Amino acid sequence: MASEPKGRLAGKNALITGGAGGIGLETAILFAKEGANVMLVDISEPALEKAKAKVLQLVPHAGKVETKKCDVSKEDQVKATVEALDPWGGLDVIFNNAGIMHARDDDAVGTPEEIWDLTMSINVKGVWYGCKHAVLSLRRNKKAKGSIINTASVVALVGSATPQLAYTASKGAVLALTRELAIVHAREGFRFNSLCPAPLNTPLLQDWLGDDVPKRMRREIHFPSGRFGEAIEQAQAVLFLASDEASFINGHEMVVDGGMTKAYVTPE
Ligand code: NAD
Repeated sequence: MASEPKGRLAGKNALITGGAGGIGLETAILFAKEGANVMLVDISEPALEKAKAKVLQLVPHAGKVETKKCDVSKEDQVKATVEALDPWGGLDVIFNNAGIMHARDDDAVGTPEEIWDLTMSINVKGVWYGCKHAVLSLRRNKKAKGSIINTASVVALVGSATPQLAYTASKGAVLALTRELAIVHAREGFRFNSLCPAPLNTPLLQDWLGDDVPKRMRREIHFPSGRFGEAIEQAQAVLFLASDEASFINGHEMVVDGGMTKAYVTPE
C-alpha cells in the first residue's frame, strides 16, 4: 500500500509555470520534497523533460510529477493545462512564474513596440490567465482554500538605470493585479501573493556578465550582502507562501533580495 505523503505541502496539487527554468525548477524540487504533486509547465518540451528527470532523481519518493508544454500567453493553452489537474482533484497551488526579459527591451525611446507587446503578453497576460483559470478551477473543485503566487521583481519597486522599460512596467502590473485579486477573492479563501526576486546567480545573468568585472561590480555593489541571490532562496519563499503556514498572508509582496531595496549605501 502506498504511504501517505508527508511534508509541508502533503497532498497538495501544484502547477508551476516556467517550471523548466531557474526559480521554477528549484521550486518544483522543493515542492516535491514537501509532498506535493507537481505539474511542470513551460514553453520548451526538451527542457521540461530534463527538468522532470532532475526532480525525480533528486526526490525519488516524489508523488506525481508531470509536464505540459504551454505558452502562458495563450489562454486556451493555460485553460487546458489547469484543467489537466482536475483528475488529480484540481489544483491547490499555482506559481505563475514564467517570464521573459528581452535583449531588445530598452528605454522609452529604444524599446520596439513588438518587444513591448511580447513582454506584456507573457509577463502580464500570462499571469492574468494563470490567475483566472486557477480561480475557476478552485471553484469547480470546491476548494475552501488556494494559494496563488505570482513572480514580479524588485524592479517593480525600485528603478533601474540599466533600462528594460517593458519588463519593469510588466512587473509593476503583476504587483498591482496580485494585490487586487488578493482582496477580491479573500472571502473565498484564495490567497494571492507576489514574489519580488533581486538579480540572481543564474546562468542567464552570469553568462551575460561573463568576465566583465566593472559590469559585474555595477550590480554587485548594490547588495548589502555583497552577492547575488540564488534561485533556491527564492524557492524557499515560494514554498512558505504556498503552504498553510502562510494562511494569514495575503496580498503580500515578498521581497527576497538580501536587503538590496532597503540600501542607501552598502557596507564596504
Ligand atoms: P529562466 O529564464 O531560467 O526561467 C523562465 C522560464 O520561463 C524558462 O524555462 C522559459 O522557457 C519559460 N518561459 C518563457 N516564456 C514562456 C511562455 N510564453 N510560456 C511558458 N513558459 C515560458 O528565468 P528565472 O530567473 O527562473 O525567472 C523566473 C521568473 O523570475 C521570471 O518571471 C523572471 O522575470 C523573474 N525574475 C528573475 C530574476 C533573475 O535575476 N533571474 C530577477 C527577478 C525576477
